[in-house]
Amino acid sequence: MTEETHRPELWKDTGAVSISFDDGSDSQLEIAVPILDQFDLPATFYINPRVRSDLEPWRKVGLSGHEIGNHTVSHICSRNFGWSGKKSLETSSLSDIEDDILLAEERLRNLLPEQTERTFCYPCYQNHVGEGIDRQSYVPVIAKYFPAARGTGEAANHPELTDLHYLTSWIVSGWMSGSDLIKATQAAMAQKRWIIFVFHGMSSQKPSRWDPTSYYHGGGFSGQEFNIFCQYLSQNRVNIPTNTVLQIAKQIRRWRATE
Ligand SMILES: [Zn+2]
Repeated sequence: MTEETHRPELWKDTGAVSISFDDGSDSQLEIAVPILDQFDLPATFYINPRVRSDLEPWRKVGLSGHEIGNHTVSHICSRNFGWSGKKSLETSSLSDIEDDILLAEERLRNLLPEQTERTFCYPCYQNHVGEGIDRQSYVPVIAKYFPAARGTGEAANHPELTDLHYLTSWIVSGWMSGSDLIKATQAAMAQKRWIIFVFHGMSSQKPSRWDPTSYYHGGGFSGQEFNIFCQYLSQNRVNIPTNTVLQIAKQIRRWRATE
């Protein structure tokens, strides 16, 4: 048996794609989920399980083959954002963060007991508590509970070298087009890397111009452009495998365990 046939999955020789969404908005349910389902592409939705009634639609999404990931209950970020009245990472302890993550985990398990494991997503891509000389990473807390976690960064993930508990990702802005995403995918595949796209809100409009004042980088991503991207991934599924963050991370963990 050659080395290649030991591996049931192809993508280590091709690269891979994951499509992820943050913060669980209605526009994701209304615009993104139907397009993903039309093209049979599984995605990862990182939600904040706050109110039970808001969560119910995500149960159906999880049961249809998408991953429902943990994005904490309280979505604590740096106080530098200036969100008044919110908890901040600078004034939180590692155990505050751990409690919030475990509460989210309990609620997600109640919502969707059929999904027995999931990945984590760092709110605002930040992974620290405290500041200055007392600043600490909470990545080790995440590594205790999750097979992988998504942050952000410059390069796409090298399957053998990336830190599975702080995966890099490619943040999609509202002003981008489907062809921008296709080009980013092709660049990652040329390097045999795993590219994880991050979407926030979706929009029924064409891409808006870049707005430097918008936290969402120019508004939601256009459903029409998302359709173009998903159609491309679907037509190229043999050479460009697309799967949830959980499934790709598990595959990498299996490779690492046997090599
Ligand atoms: Zn978020």
